[in-house]
Amino acid sequence: MFKKHECERCGSKFSKVEELMHHKQVTHEQELYMCNECNVGFEGMEQMRDHAKKFHSYNRMKGKT
Ligand SMILES: [Zn+2]
Ligand SMILES: [Zn+2]
Repeated sequence: MFKKHECERCGSKFSKVEELMHHKQVTHEQELYMCNECNVGFEGMEQMRDHAKKFHSYNRMKGKT
C-alpha cells in the first residue's frame, strides 16, 4: 500500500493522515512544546526556553542587556 504520510520525528509511514496524527499523539505525546522558530519539539517548557536562549537569543533581540 502506498503510504505518503511520514512522521518527521521517527520516519514511520502511514496511509492516512489521521493515522499519522494518532501516532504522533500516542508516540510523541511528550513533545508538547514546539519552538516557533525552527519547529523542534521539546519535552518540557524548560528545555524549550533553554533552546530558545541558546539558538535564537530572545533576550538580545528585544534590546535588553
Ligand atoms: Zn513518529
Ligand atoms: Zn528553535
